[in-house]
Amino acid sequence: MGGTVKRYDIVIVGGGMAGLSAALYGSWLGHRVLLLEREVIGGEIINADKIENFPGFPDGIQGADLVAQTELQAMKFGMESTYQEARAIRVSGENRLVQTNEEAYEAKAVIVAAGGAHRALGAKGEAEFEGKGVSHCATCDGAFFVEKPVAVVGGGDTALDEGLFLTQFASKVTIIHRRGRLRASETLQERARGNPKIDLLLDSVLEEITGKGCVEAIRVHDLKAQSSSLVAVAGVFTCVGFEPSTAFLKGLVELDAMGHVPVDLNMQTSVPGIYAVGYARKSSVGQLASAAGDGVTAAVAAHRYLSGLKS
Ligand code: NAP
Repeated sequence: MGGTVKRYDIVIVGGGMAGLSAALYGSWLGHRVLLLEREVIGGEIINADKIENFPGFPDGIQGADLVAQTELQAMKFGMESTYQEARAIRVSGENRLVQTNEEAYEAKAVIVAAGGAHRALGAKGEAEFEGKGVSHCATCDGAFFVEKPVAVVGGGDTALDEGLFLTQFASKVTIIHRRGRLRASETLQERARGNPKIDLLLDSVLEEITGKGCVEAIRVHDLKAQSSSLVAVAGVFTCVGFEPSTAFLKGLVELDAMGHVPVDLNMQTSVPGIYAVGYARKSSVGQLASAAGDGVTAAVAAHRYLSGLKS
């Protein structure tokens, strides 16, 4: 790790709700905090049209608004942030050295709030048609499909949220789920079932995406009937979950088979002074409010840890 090393009390890796909440609390508790984000501060929720289950907003709030307000609040207490990607963390006595794609930072505590990356579906044609009709962001790409039929793959909250959002544009939204039962919340299921533009294809898998230059059709296999059929669609939104972005922690902290970080009740990993929060940690319930809570827990725990180092 070469170059000048800047020093902070707490370095936070990842600027989603978990990381921002940790940064807000860490700064509010009087620490010098740096937040590292590789893409966009806010993470997944930046594109959320309306978040209706975050406490305190009975009429819902736009993801981008919630992010902007939380970032502002953290900055008010002194949080610094920079767009860099953490590539490795090294422990040297009481110091935790975070190497990014550009610089190295020294911290007494590190909070990993790295979230996850979209899981690929693995269907034939998925990679070939990425950006040519295949997407995983309805807010970003939905408007390309005005009065056109689209498919959404997945049975979780994201698939139903995205599917419902797409009904504003598309002529028809076919939600394809591999099991007979959806994983999404009852509220979203009821809304989807009550929307005349939504068709639910359960016990079905998307086998192939086809077209000439851009998506024109998909081949769907009905697992019960053991038969396949072609469905004409102009777009395919894959919403089949996330993989934790924790590869850079391999060999440093314990990871489970899926790459999630096991933590104790203080969000501490197997290494003292290194915490993991939000989707990156094992057994997260994956909600925005729980991510915020994780961040707060880790920041308070880091505060106590840092106080112990000082005494
Ligand atoms: P998720 O809950 O993990 O659901 C992923 C879905 O994709 C599941 O239905 C899964 O099927 C399916 N799937 C996974 N791999 C697949 C494959 N290879 N082929 C076909 N289908 C596959 O992910 P998510 O929906 O993105 O949600 C992530 C977290 O964010 C959750 O905790 C969720 O509650 C939260 N979230 C909340 C909201 C909200 O509150 N409004 C909105 C979005 C997300 P199985 O069901 O068969 O496993």
